Amino acid sequence: MVLLLRAPESGMASSSATTRHLVLVGGGHSHALLLRLWRERPLPGVRLTLINPGRLAHYSGMVPGHIAGHYRLDEITIDLGRLADSAGARLVEGRATGIDREAKRIELGGGPAIAYDLLSLDIGIDTHMPDLPGFQDHARPAKPLGDFVAAWSNWCDALVRDAVAPRICVIGAGLAGVELAFAMRYRTGRLGRPAEIRLVESGRALASVGRRSRTTLLDRLRRQSILLEEETEIAAVTAGGVVLRNGERRAASFVLGTAGARARSWISETGLETHEGFVTVDRLLQSLTDPAIFACGDCAHVGFAPRPKAGVYAVRAAPVLFQNLRAALGEGHPRAFRPQSDYLKLVSLGGRVALADRGCLAVSGGWVWRWRDRIDRGFMRRFPTPGDSR
Ligand SMILES: Cc1cc2nc3c(=O)[nH]c(=O)nc-3n(C[C@H](O)[C@H](O)[C@H](O)COP(=O)(O)OP(=O)(O)OC[C@H]3O[C@@H](n4cnc5c(N)ncnc54)[C@H](O)[C@@H]3O)c2cc1C
Repeated sequence: MVLLLRAPESGMASSSATTRHLVLVGGGHSHALLLRLWRERPLPGVRLTLINPGRLAHYSGMVPGHIAGHYRLDEITIDLGRLADSAGARLVEGRATGIDREAKRIELGGGPAIAYDLLSLDIGIDTHMPDLPGFQDHARPAKPLGDFVAAWSNWCDALVRDAVAPRICVIGAGLAGVELAFAMRYRTGRLGRPAEIRLVESGRALASVGRRSRTTLLDRLRRQSILLEEETEIAAVTAGGVVLRNGERRAASFVLGTAGARARSWISETGLETHEGFVTVDRLLQSLTDPAIFACGDCAHVGFAPRPKAGVYAVRAAPVLFQNLRAALGEGHPRAFRPQSDYLKLVSLGGRVALADRGCLAVSGGWVWRWRDRIDRGFMRRFPTPGDSR
């Protein structure tokens, strides 16, 4: 099949006649990998800029291990500044707030707008729950990861000083919520202050995993005395915990939100075609509305093959995005993104034990954790981290 890339050339707003400007918005998994590929094969005549709120990005696959205390923060942190440097790219520390597609400018909160010829979005999702009263003031969303890991570290310090009650409430019992609950259970136990941990889920827990794995994970939750309330709506978060829709209260000094996977709100004002706020892209990862804009990772909606939001798809999209952005800049041919229909989930169970889930396969043990550890460390070895001197 011949794939035709819609040419973004018309109305190019380049800052110079000869140099074109490729702007990457968001230092997510796809863009981090793309920068590595760009380092190996830069494109002459193309200026590359990365926009991200800070120099550092955390690798979500290792966040539960960090929360459990298995990994130091620097081991799970990508130094985007050095990564960009090594690829000959400029890092702009800022947050995109809008796109003027007519003028081909990306607007930044509190900084001058940046002109682009070609734009790629990899800005992930938001787990804030703005509609839940009290969430903003009293709960922590799992994303942004940086804020969450900092809040967790502060809470653990307060826990060992006896300054907070050892009670945690996790909103959402999907895979991320359950894995984090195991991690928190393990860590608080190691700190000598084992916390009561409660998962509250408005629907059915672990709806996305296979039947056998779900049974194993629910059994592990019971064995670790992690409380689970399914089909339970939270009406509000307060300084003392959560209030359920039926008026009952659940005390907690740390409330974590893992349930609200929402698209970044400003995307809906760009005029791009979206699905539930996520940028709809075609097989080439190109926006259906604007050929000068690509999107991938969690912020994209792959309408031709809808998939759950998972880092594995963002990783797989990176070489396709790399090739297709180059094709849009006149080098080579584009290729289609073919996301796999399912993927292997390796879920850590708190200690150095993990469960492997794929289809009807469900096995667990220390060897699964070590397998996952090798994969995750291998992923991180591709990037500069704050602690190393590469
Ligand atoms: C605790 C936890 C564990 C997980 N474990 C796994 C796992 O084991 N396997 C798996 O496949 N998935 C896992 N996931 C899901 C995974 O985190 C996401 O699917 C993955 O991170 C998506 O990557 P991304 O490239 O879309 O963007 P992200 O990794 O979310 O990165 C987005 C980047 O964009 C930046 N950004 C945001 N807004 C702006 C803006 N306006 N302007 C500029 N930059 C912006 C952010 O700061 C961030 O650096 C986990 C999620 C969580 C919360």
